[in-house]
Amino acid sequence: MSVAESLLERVADLQREAEEALHQCQSVEEVESVRKRFLGRKGALNEILRRLSSLTEEERRQVSPPANRLKAWLEEQIAEKQQQIAEQVRQQRMRAEKLDVTLPGRIWTPGGLHPLTLTINEICRIFTDLGFEVVEGPEVEDEYHNFIALNLPPYHPARDQHDSFYITDTILLRTETSAVQIRVMETRRPPVRIVSPGRVYRRDPVDRTHSHTFHQVEGLLVDDRVTFADLKGTLEAFVRRFFGAQVPTRFLPHHFPFTEPSAEVHIGCLVCSGEGCGLCKGTGWIEVLGCGMVHPWVLENVGYDPEKWQGFAFGMGVERLAMLRFRIDDIRLFYQNDLRFLQQFD
Ligand SMILES: [Zn+2]
Repeated sequence: MSVAESLLERVADLQREAEEALHQCQSVEEVESVRKRFLGRKGALNEILRRLSSLTEEERRQVSPPANRLKAWLEEQIAEKQQQIAEQVRQQRMRAEKLDVTLPGRIWTPGGLHPLTLTINEICRIFTDLGFEVVEGPEVEDEYHNFIALNLPPYHPARDQHDSFYITDTILLRTETSAVQIRVMETRRPPVRIVSPGRVYRRDPVDRTHSHTFHQVEGLLVDDRVTFADLKGTLEAFVRRFFGAQVPTRFLPHHFPFTEPSAEVHIGCLVCSGEGCGLCKGTGWIEVLGCGMVHPWVLENVGYDPEKWQGFAFGMGVERLAMLRFRIDDIRLFYQNDLRFLQQFD
């Protein structure tokens, strides 16, 4: 067999090989490697074309046209295959990303504020309107701020270990937000006008009206020439805005270690208007908060001169006020996260 004949045979073989190789291709990368194998600089076809120079004029005329036809055919086949694969990839991606417009849409339900948050916000809004500032303090407190500075010495019954959650011998979860009063007065000079909302902890067994964790809002005002009349006026203004202008109030003498004199604020029963019912236990009145003039010893403990400065303080249970306002009869409902309950306050 002459060189020309063997080259012609090689051209025919290459066409079959290339056809087979292209048929197997699954990806653009595979087509590219076929192109390199047949059309590349060191590819099979170039090898044939390089050998043409060693042929006679006559032989070259025999071999050259089929070799060039193969080259053109290969270029066309490869371009076509590449296009075909690109189209397949596009189709696959479109199937994967297909948007089914018949599916139901995603429903975004707006959240609402918890009734205790609503109540705290409302209480704080009323007092900020009256010129008070909202301040928060730590929930883990030391004995000094939680008890001693508030005139609760170690032998006081309210300090019984059974009533408080102690973390160490002297560190506990605060039993009242009053500790914030001390922290604020230690770092500021009068006048002071603050309310402090927050969570407090006591070792109470849980029932319809008690919880080991609950919320209070504490208030404190210190200035010169502050009297019990200022206390009464401020708290009556609060009660009228929170419970309604028609609700009667009364102040009853009471005792708290950190205020002197101290009082309990009662409002006329919201259910029976004074007739007597289950809510007010037949008295016609409901206790809503505790208050009093800041005890001179408490002022001395923070370095205020009680001869120059006076003040009043008050504290209220957020759960209690929310229960009265929304007519909720079980405190446990606040902590169960039952949407059927919570959605009523949206
Ligand atoms: Zn009543």
